[in-house]
Amino acid sequence: MKSIRVFLVVVILAVITLFSFVAALKGYQSSMEEADRLFDKQLLDTAKLIASVYTESSASNGSYDSAFAFQVWQPDGLLAASFNAPATAIAPLVSGFDYNNFNGYRWRTVAHFDTIKQYWVVAAERTDLRYTLAENVVLESISPVLLGLPLVGLLIWFIIGQGLKPLRRLADELGNKQADDLSALSYGSSSQELRRIVLSSNKLLERLERSLLRERQFASDAAHELRTPISVLKIQLHNISKELPEGNQNVLKLAATTERLGHIVEQILDLYRSSPDQFNASLEPVNVAGLAREVLAQEFSRFDAKNQVLEFQGKDCFIQGDRFALTTLLLNLLSNANKYTPAGGQINVSVRESGQQVILTVEDSGSGIPEQQREAVFERFYRVGGDRHQSGEPGCGLGLAIVKHIVESHNAAISVTPSRFKTGIAFQVNFPAAQVGKTPSQHDNEQPDV
Ligand code: ADP
Repeated sequence: MKSIRVFLVVVILAVITLFSFVAALKGYQSSMEEADRLFDKQLLDTAKLIASVYTESSASNGSYDSAFAFQVWQPDGLLAASFNAPATAIAPLVSGFDYNNFNGYRWRTVAHFDTIKQYWVVAAERTDLRYTLAENVVLESISPVLLGLPLVGLLIWFIIGQGLKPLRRLADELGNKQADDLSALSYGSSSQELRRIVLSSNKLLERLERSLLRERQFASDAAHELRTPISVLKIQLHNISKELPEGNQNVLKLAATTERLGHIVEQILDLYRSSPDQFNASLEPVNVAGLAREVLAQEFSRFDAKNQVLEFQGKDCFIQGDRFALTTLLLNLLSNANKYTPAGGQINVSVRESGQQVILTVEDSGSGIPEQQREAVFERFYRVGGDRHQSGEPGCGLGLAIVKHIVESHNAAISVTPSRFKTGIAFQVNFPAAQVGKTPSQHDNEQPDV
């Protein structure tokens, strides 16, 4: 059964119903025995009464109830009988109780020999009427139980629902956890049984966190160690290229590969530095528009080289942030826009304030990202189309993972939507606005740039 609640309600109701029926059956049996005893006594009393009061004149074909019959036998034959009694003896003329059939019914019979008057009185009473009475008694006693079963079921349903609430809370807490949130689960008002689950889950989370930290530390250390040899390699390559004729294809390929290697190592280091647990941000009020302008100016040559139109629109908006991390975020988004937009394309960057949020948007007229992959691009080492991106641009799939870490470290949110151009994609980051460092003049200072 899939639901513990449904299972418990069904099982408990089944047990209650079973016990009710066993109790009713027992009650029925004892009621029947008791009723039998009472009716037998009554029957015998009636037979004795008939014997004591019977006289020839009173012998009647009478107005006896059809549920009752009697006969008075003398040694030489039937002396008298009730109108519904057959001509033959309704029971053997032997003292005592018995069951006999006549008139299409089963009868409880008693034969009584009157020693004074020397005749047999046989009295009979229909058994079905006895049972009807006993059944009525039993039914009346169990009907409240039967009628109450739905109510009991409802009560059990409600009580079990209350009992399972902590389980639902635990499931919600686990369900709401971010993929990289390995913090311990709260005990809250957990029941004893759940405490054990929470305790084991927390131990597992702790082990996972330790191994994740070890893995990150290893990646970071390895990247660090690789930095120096790569720098040496670049210098050696530079020296060799001077000795060889300019434009040597092998040297150019080697230089491109070394550049790519250096880029991957730097990205791994950035990823490590921007992880939320490592994010030792020196938070300060940062003017996002100002920072974007600086980064754009610094990167302008890349866009110029591809003849791309770069537009910027923004006003001074402040957030509490880490300048270094925010620069990395802007660099990654801009570098992607530059890489994945063909020559002559357009890139728009804007910063605006909306309510309590500062919104940074980077959109381009490039290849765009298919809807089903817009979430996956934030995973480490994920590239649309795998290693062979259709643009042919080099990359290692770490840039957006770094962006995501930085976004999370700033309690911000990032969304990916189609750009306003015919093709392309828009990345929008919503930062919580900072109240500090804002002056009325800064607030109204909106200036379009190119
Ligand atoms: P990289 O660019 O090094 O491959 P990223 O993590 O920065 O890694 O990006 C992951 C993938 O998302 C890219 O490989 C690319 O397929 C896609 N992508 C990112 N930005 C854009 C963009 N502006 N236009 C089209 N595709 C993009």
